[in-house]
Amino acid sequence: MARILIIEDELKIARFLELELRHEGYEVLLAGEGRLGLEKALNEKVDLVILDIMLPGLNGIEVCRRIRLESQIPIIMLTAKDDVSDKVAGLDTGADDYMTKPFAIEELLARIRVALNRKKNAKEPKLENLVIGNLRLNTASRSAYYNDEELTLTKKEYELLEYMIRNKNIVLSREQLLNHVWDYEYFGDTNVVDVYIRYLRQKIDEKYNIHLISTVRGVGYIIKDKS
Ligand code: CA
Repeated sequence: MARILIIEDELKIARFLELELRHEGYEVLLAGEGRLGLEKALNEKVDLVILDIMLPGLNGIEVCRRIRLESQIPIIMLTAKDDVSDKVAGLDTGADDYMTKPFAIEELLARIRVALNRKKNAKEPKLENLVIGNLRLNTASRSAYYNDEELTLTKKEYELLEYMIRNKNIVLSREQLLNHVWDYEYFGDTNVVDVYIRYLRQKIDEKYNIHLISTVRGVGYIIKDKS
């Protein structure tokens, strides 16, 4: 059963949540302030964190931000006030969901189930087709087809193409492409991006006489959804 960490300084709420969650069969850990909560979140193998925003020590936004530096565990934020800026700040720092106190326990339990399911599903890569015009990518087999003809792409060419199609209609800078597709292999050397863009254009644009990849002068490259 999932292990849930509650980071909440209001004892009454913390105890109430603990009782309800145990009743549902979850294993529960408690932390009454931010620093201790952060430590437990990172070291105690928890599956989900319920995180209050107003906390002594380290506030919830900061705890969330620091958890995200190291871990993708689902985080559901709690706050006493219906404050939109808190909500935005929480989601910006990487919280998965957000609830305003007072809340119905059934709703929190439902959101916990959703977050845990999402986590489980994220572990299994889904069979997915990315389509743009006549071009289709099968992300499970990491292959690309144009009108059902398979393209012969190298690993990096495929990764560059998939990343650009996932981010279609967005201008991507050479630095962004380098960081996402090459990690640190070519640190700072963005020429490698231009080289691979040229390979892709030879294998797709020129071969099929289409205009898939556009250059945005001074910025980078873009793949647009064909209108
Ligand atoms: Ca609080």
